[in-house]
Amino acid sequence: QAKSLGRNTYRFFTEELTIQARCRLDLENSIRKALKDNEFVLHYQPVIDAHTQRVVGAEALVRWHQNKQNLLGPDRFIPVAEECGLIIPLGRWVLRQACQQMRHWLDMGIHLEFMAVNLSGVQFNLGSVEQEVFEALQRSGLPPSFLDLELTESIIMNYGSQSLSVMNKLKEQGVSLSIDDFGTGYSSLAHLKNFPVDRLKIDKRFVQSLEEQTKDMAIVTTIINMAHNLGMKVVAEGVETQAQQALLKQLECEFFQGFYFSRALDEDAFADWYAAHSSKYHHS
Ligand code: C2E
Ligand code: MG
Ligand code: MG
Ligand code: MG
Repeated sequence: QAKSLGRNTYRFFTEELTIQARCRLDLENSIRKALKDNEFVLHYQPVIDAHTQRVVGAEALVRWHQNKQNLLGPDRFIPVAEECGLIIPLGRWVLRQACQQMRHWLDMGIHLEFMAVNLSGVQFNLGSVEQEVFEALQRSGLPPSFLDLELTESIIMNYGSQSLSVMNKLKEQGVSLSIDDFGTGYSSLAHLKNFPVDRLKIDKRFVQSLEEQTKDMAIVTTIINMAHNLGMKVVAEGVETQAQQALLKQLECEFFQGFYFSRALDEDAFADWYAAHSSKYHHS
């Protein structure tokens, strides 16, 4: 009986795997086609200065415009793009597009201090990321100090001294570096002191349980204090309420990002939001 159960289980798994493999292959092919057909778009989420309430930056977040109705979020296609290597051309497109947009906004009088772009570990490891960044800056004419690159803890942890040398080369170009989703990986702040990181982004899961969980309050307090001691500034992501904002401000977090202020917006909606927000805060 155990034997037949075993065999059924086996068959179940192979069928399941075949379906998964097929889906992946389909998805991989459609990502490739979408790159050719220009179906990816960037949305931009404002980053707010905790003290002045001004918009100081934007994070570029990729979406896939599959057709008129469907806007697919990155969690649905980035993992597959990473697995099959398509993150290299997709990541290149994102970098170029984000730099171009930032250059355009500066020319229009939208005075942001930085445009943040997410880098995947695969891009960091396989691609020549320094070259990609250099080219995106050259093509757009964006001064490097306006570009911020968001790395994950796993990039730092997995590639050790190699990561350090890539990060140093990026810093030499004049861009800034942030650690994204801090607190979800395995790195420690003690380890971070060796890396040339300007900003640390506290993962939204900590921010969102700030009010109910005293332990998370303690963790966030510690992260912020230690980041400051290491000379980094802190961005809180996933700020959804006034209460979270007030708590984080007390803890001397420098920047906020989250639905409380705005979701990620397309190019035009961002410009409108910026104008409306600026008329409230910039001239007071
Ligand atoms: P991330 O870099 O941590 O980006 C923040 C995510 O949190 C975004 O989701 C954003 O829409 C969402 N978010 C912002 N504020 C709030 C809030 O107040 N509440 C909640 N519940 N969520 C909030 P999104 O756009 O779906 O992106 C998911 C992840 O996909 C990103 O997380 C990033 O890791 C990845 N990603 C996005 N664009 C790119 C890209 O161009 N390249 C790479 N490699 N990864 C990207
Ligand atoms: Mg990010
Ligand atoms: Mg994040
Ligand atoms: Mg992330």
